[in-house]
Amino acid sequence: MSNDNLKASTNYGDDFVQFLNQSPTPFHAIHSMSQILENKGFKKLDETLPFHGNVEANGKYYITRNGSSIVSFVVGGKWDPTSKESSFSIIGSHTDSPVLKLKPVSKVSKEGFKQIAIELYGGGIWHTWFDQPLSCAGRVFVHENGKIQSKLINLNIPLFKIPTLAIHFDGKQNASFAFDKQSNMVPFFTKDSKPKVKATKSCCDSDEGMDYDAFQSIKSMVERHHVEILDLIKEDLKLKSVEDIDDFELILYPNQPSTLGGLKKEFVFSARLDNLTSCFTSVTAMSQIADNKESIANDHTIRVSASFDYEEVGSAQNGGADSNFLPNILERLSFVYANKEKDLESPLLKSYEKELFAKSFIVSSDVAHGVNPNYSEWYENNHKPHLGEGVVLKINANQRYTTNGYGMALIKKIAKESRVPLQLFVVKNAAPCGSTIGPMLAQRIGKALDLGNAILSMHSINETGHVDDLEHQINLFKGFWESYDNLQDLVQL
Ligand SMILES: [Zn+2]
Repeated sequence: MSNDNLKASTNYGDDFVQFLNQSPTPFHAIHSMSQILENKGFKKLDETLPFHGNVEANGKYYITRNGSSIVSFVVGGKWDPTSKESSFSIIGSHTDSPVLKLKPVSKVSKEGFKQIAIELYGGGIWHTWFDQPLSCAGRVFVHENGKIQSKLINLNIPLFKIPTLAIHFDGKQNASFAFDKQSNMVPFFTKDSKPKVKATKSCCDSDEGMDYDAFQSIKSMVERHHVEILDLIKEDLKLKSVEDIDDFELILYPNQPSTLGGLKKEFVFSARLDNLTSCFTSVTAMSQIADNKESIANDHTIRVSASFDYEEVGSAQNGGADSNFLPNILERLSFVYANKEKDLESPLLKSYEKELFAKSFIVSSDVAHGVNPNYSEWYENNHKPHLGEGVVLKINANQRYTTNGYGMALIKKIAKESRVPLQLFVVKNAAPCGSTIGPMLAQRIGKALDLGNAILSMHSINETGHVDDLEHQINLFKGFWESYDNLQDLVQL
């Protein structure tokens, strides 16, 4: 084995860990991705304004929806929706992960502990959330200059904990850790005693400043949530009073930072690898191809990266992969003549849109199941992806994944040119199979395949990935975007 093989690549590892730590929620992930794109000169577009006149050949743009989904794209210099060569080359991913969300009324107490009521979002391995220090992040709607303004918040302190039952009460826990999601998963954050120093002038235990005649459509924030939590938000956002908080969407996340680990720092130990891995690799590849001006100038396609919220709960929400977010953008781009003045009213344009969709291709990227050495019997023989050994093509006869012969032929060609190793994954016949945003994008837009990087412990509070696969995936995505223009006719059906 050469020295090169012994040394794990640390390319991208540190950047990825920083990205993970800055992105505890989809809202923060969109902020992180927007910053990466802004630094590369991508211009933010507003969905409510016309594209015509704002989108140009060789231009770089991004659009966000709900602050939790994003579409970025680079317009080829030779983009012309009426030409035979133009199409969309799309990479899709998702920004959300299984987490705990604060309920609209979170204020609960039991046995002298102040606790918060939470909802379970998605299909987490929830037992991994016990006995972990948890923090809180999300977005807060605050009153500011007569409007209600959304602001990001990340408390980034070990505030909450969900305690297990001591082994002395129930020795069977090691055989099977069973728990009640409603009653056993209530995080505490302090004892119930009165604070010695009053937390805030305007808090609920004071009559001062309260207007009892004012009509309230629902109970106030101080009635619905512990004032100590509201005070932390007030201090973090430097608000005058907790009454400036109109409402919020907060989630809990593990306070232990993401880190590189293992002997050669070859692993990524982190929450949210599903699927901030694909968000990071796609935005990094998108920002890198933006530097290659010559390649863009000669390109007939629009290279699109789309990262959606709500995948873990079915994607059927505004900004989700099953919404009109991406189709609307593609449809509108079909009407943009980037480099020439043509008649935009032509009745033929509607059919150009259909033709463009038919020529386009979607790479749906989500993490894959790397083989776990302690549970390898659960994996199908000859289809056990290994961490660090290449991007995984995900295949399922029942179409839970979209990969078929067409996509395989295309991606193998791109991977060969980009020198990226690929691996194959199917589940055992008796096992259920997860799914992705691939099938819903395929049915709305067109040809697709599913791939992703191998991780261990998918949906745990601390998953494991491999730094080498970041580089593999980034190189594959760059290869896809830079060559699809020439490859769209490669596979003949
Ligand atoms: Zn996923």
